[in-house]
Amino acid sequence: MASMKTYYDDMLTNPDIIRTAQDEEMLEKREHVNDPAQHSPKPKVVVTSGVHDLLDCPVCLNAMYPPIHQCSNGHTLCSSCKPRVQNRCPTCRHELGNIRCLALEQVAATLELPCRYLSFGCVGIYPYYDKLKHESQCKFRPYNCPYAGSECTVMGDIPFLVNHLKDEHKVDMHSGSTFNHRYVKSNPTEVENATWMLTVFSCFGQYFCLHFEAFQLGGAPVYIAFLRYMGDDVEAKNYSYTLEVGGTGRKTIWQGVPRSIRDSHKKVRDSYDGLIIQRNMALFFSGGDRKELKLRVTGRIWKDQ
Ligand SMILES: [Zn+2]
Ligand SMILES: [Zn+2]
Ligand SMILES: [Zn+2]
Ligand SMILES: [Zn+2]
Repeated sequence: MASMKTYYDDMLTNPDIIRTAQDEEMLEKREHVNDPAQHSPKPKVVVTSGVHDLLDCPVCLNAMYPPIHQCSNGHTLCSSCKPRVQNRCPTCRHELGNIRCLALEQVAATLELPCRYLSFGCVGIYPYYDKLKHESQCKFRPYNCPYAGSECTVMGDIPFLVNHLKDEHKVDMHSGSTFNHRYVKSNPTEVENATWMLTVFSCFGQYFCLHFEAFQLGGAPVYIAFLRYMGDDVEAKNYSYTLEVGGTGRKTIWQGVPRSIRDSHKKVRDSYDGLIIQRNMALFFSGGDRKELKLRVTGRIWKDQ
């Protein structure tokens, strides 16, 4: 896990973090394994880093978990790389055999390491074997960019992503909890999944993304609009929103709960968790001669008690 290593190394270069109780804890744990390195005059963090590095698979560089394998010369290898090396140690080319490295597995069990999202604000310290599970659910883990129209791989915390949406994707930013939007499309017969828009709203000190797009639903072209909350799922449930679209005396109203941006745009869309407008109705709402899509969508976001 190369990125885990990066975060960890970042931590080692940060003098504020080196003086924490966790390092005392690591040293104390290390004494059980009776490593002569503990008497080294070097700073203790360096010692810990050495053990941690031993747990990186030399082939894939990911952190190793039991069963950890080794060759007869003692070179280690993770269990997912082992079947791929044709029984040859990738380090010394000797026959690999089937030797398990119990000692290293046991050393790993004594380690406690900071969550890899320390730099995002998580101060949790976890036993080596629990760390991955925590990190997969850590509430400080960065979010994916919510922009849906490209394969954007940018990740970060919410303030970072808000700036990213503004600067890189040039999305419209609105402040306030009510909105009134007009979506105009000159050729409404083109209903590829590419027709979509994103607007970011800021209200209640939070950020919300309004998605609007055309897609095929069972062969029929439809439009969908929905709101996502830029934050965690638990907090998303504190908000509700309505979307309203209409024209020529008719209207459709949707009331929903914003989904967290942890849920991908596609996941929300494919669960139809939003205002869905059939194309015929959308053209009817647009008025005119059905040559142009002109939808007026109004909405409101509020915080539930
Ligand atoms: Zn490996
Ligand atoms: Zn070897
Ligand atoms: Zn964490
Ligand atoms: Zn992006």
